[in-house]
Amino acid sequence: MSSAYDWIEKALDTIHRADWYRQTRTIRGRSGAVIELDGRSLINFASNDYLGLAADERTIEAAIEATRVYGTGTTGSRLLSGHRDIHRDLETAIASLKQTDGAIVFSSGYLANLGTIACLVGRRDLIFGDKYNHSSLKNGANLSGATVREYAHCNLEDLERQLREYRREYRHCLILTDTVFSMDGDLCPLEGLLDLADIYKCMVLVDEAHATGVMGENGAGCVEYFGCTGRELIQMGTLSKALGGLGGYVAGSAKLIDFLRNRAATWIYTTGLSPADTAAARRAIEIVRQEPDRRVLLHRNTEFVKNNLRDFNLLPSESPILCLALSGPGEALEWSRRLLDRGIFAPAIRPPTVPTSRLRFTFMATHEPHHLQTLVDAIREIANGNGEL
Ligand code: PMP
Repeated sequence: MSSAYDWIEKALDTIHRADWYRQTRTIRGRSGAVIELDGRSLINFASNDYLGLAADERTIEAAIEATRVYGTGTTGSRLLSGHRDIHRDLETAIASLKQTDGAIVFSSGYLANLGTIACLVGRRDLIFGDKYNHSSLKNGANLSGATVREYAHCNLEDLERQLREYRREYRHCLILTDTVFSMDGDLCPLEGLLDLADIYKCMVLVDEAHATGVMGENGAGCVEYFGCTGRELIQMGTLSKALGGLGGYVAGSAKLIDFLRNRAATWIYTTGLSPADTAAARRAIEIVRQEPDRRVLLHRNTEFVKNNLRDFNLLPSESPILCLALSGPGEALEWSRRLLDRGIFAPAIRPPTVPTSRLRFTFMATHEPHHLQTLVDAIREIANGNGEL
């Protein structure tokens, strides 16, 4: 007998046939530059833990200590019983790093984007988003009820053309962009984008998920890297990548933060960030500020691989995310498998996540020279075997 759920099996078949099927892989123990997967030790080029803080003894200790003092959960929404002094300390630390009036922490970066975008715009408003924006910006835009228009990736001419054509028909306008594009590694043209926003009276929300702790002299992100600190904009980021924990944040003017505390449903109607996550992120920010050498090493590691693979089809990148462009999902999966055979963990990134298939490598400050050399040698070997060079 047929059931109302039969379509799910067919949908899964379709996903399989398109080579779009994904599975979780269980990593044993702590994640670092080297991981243990299926009983094998692998060099890890798939982590967002850019500075190696997810397994740093100091962030671990901070989480344990906070759990002892405050317990495992915050037991309620921040506006009811879920607010603690450590939340305030973390938000102050983020605002200080970002040099903004204030900051607010959410349970994840994804929720920070969904909740914030929905507060800023609605049915009478207009959103412009870069075509390659992260899913959380795209879904946030679609859920907000505003009219959503995409502009070509990093293309300010296209953005301006559309601003000229459509801006005046709407009340508020919001421009959304990743600063480091998560699946490509390139950077948004921030200064020009902010100038356009000034001219056409638009708000700007930048997603600093992959920039926080990674870009800029103090690790404050691309806003710092591009010398735009102090300009009026909304900065969102995550505690889950270079900061090594879990949670998201928004930093900006005191009024914006106050407004979000009163209107952001994904902050108001959810339990306050756990003591462990809150304290670990607070400690991670201290380390980001006190140990700039980690950032220097991270970028040096990325440059080493980039320089040694100059003759390959690498996508343009100015961040620790480097992609090797491949012809399709099948080829990307095959490369990923062959790297795995050589002790290297690097995921194939395929449609529908991105428009074109690729291998994506993320680098860490804690990668050692021999890890990087092994990657370069393996890629050359696979390419030669394939007749790719
Ligand atoms: N924005 C970008 C650009 C991201 O890459 C991610 C994480 N993949 C997020 C937002 C969501 O952050 P979180 O993992 O904290 O939910």
